Amino acid sequence: MIVYLPMLPEVRQHRNVPREVWTSTRVGRHLAGRRKVNTKPELLLRRALHARGVRFRLHRQLADRCTPDIVLPGRGLAVFVDGCWWHSCPVHGRKTPFTGPNAALWEAKMVRNRERDAYATEMAESLGWTVVRVWECEVMADPQAAARRVVE
Ligand SMILES: [Zn+2]
Repeated sequence: MIVYLPMLPEVRQHRNVPREVWTSTRVGRHLAGRRKVNTKPELLLRRALHARGVRFRLHRQLADRCTPDIVLPGRGLAVFVDGCWWHSCPVHGRKTPFTGPNAALWEAKMVRNRERDAYATEMAESLGWTVVRVWECEVMADPQAAARRVVE
């Protein structure tokens, strides 16, 4: 299996950059099936917010490449629920260099993820939103506490 990944616009501008070709690996196949929206932690956090009577909207695009998982328009809050693996959580993110045939691609991908996160945060803040980033593990451990941190 070969996975072709979409590239960020600024990368795509360079016409001579070849498309990434990933070598199929066991871990790659495992990760390829992961969903990016309506994840379990997102659902748990939404449920906890709802239980507190908080009104929110889902996946509202605030700008190009800036779509928080949850926005609370009344409070001006933009919430991103970050998966521990993809967004390199300090506890569950990868701490050793990648190995294997796709090591360099993984490394680059993780750097791009961090840049994309920083960009989305800056963009939302520049539009007047207060950004709250919540880790997947934080929500999974205690959705109510995570919801409290979002609104308080
Ligand atoms: Zn984590």
